[in-house]
Amino acid sequence: MSWQRVIYTLQQAWQRRRALSALAADPQCHCRHVTHITAAFLARKGITGLVLDFDGVLAPHGDLVPLPQVVTWLQQLTRDFAQERIFILSNKPIPARQTWFAQHFPHIHFIGGVRKKPYPDGLQYIVAQSNIPAEKIILVDDRLLTGMLATLIAQTQGLWITQAYCRLSIKNLRELFFFMLRSVEKWVF
Ligand SMILES: [Mg+2]
Repeated sequence: MSWQRVIYTLQQAWQRRRALSALAADPQCHCRHVTHITAAFLARKGITGLVLDFDGVLAPHGDLVPLPQVVTWLQQLTRDFAQERIFILSNKPIPARQTWFAQHFPHIHFIGGVRKKPYPDGLQYIVAQSNIPAEKIILVDDRLLTGMLATLIAQTQGLWITQAYCRLSIKNLRELFFFMLRSVEKWVF
């Protein structure tokens, strides 16, 4: 994480602390797992653009492919919600993940080359490329200070994943670090 992004995150989080706390307290903006999202739910919310974070949302941190239950969910969802309206916006848009999507869901857009969340660049890029209005786009993300903060800045909708997928073990310090970050966010907000 660059210092610039840390400072930007703290500035934005402070400025938007009330909105961030309101989102964290509003069950309408929460979802335990991404697999609970249905096309009917998106239609009820007027959503026509679905943006998915990767780590914690589609798989445990650092995995290269989505979990099997997530793949099944995506297959079902895309029967009623066009792949063209789905976007992957990860702060780690690594080639292996992009290749997996190109092979299995070739019409889902894999976003890369934008500044990391909470910068709103990825969401703004999606708005510009898709012509979907920001308020009809929802970002599904397990982090308040990256994903959810980005939705407040870009003025899209946000759905906070409260039970992020993780694989905790003492050997996996990186996963432990992100588990702690999420816990601190929940405690602060
Ligand atoms: Mg994440």
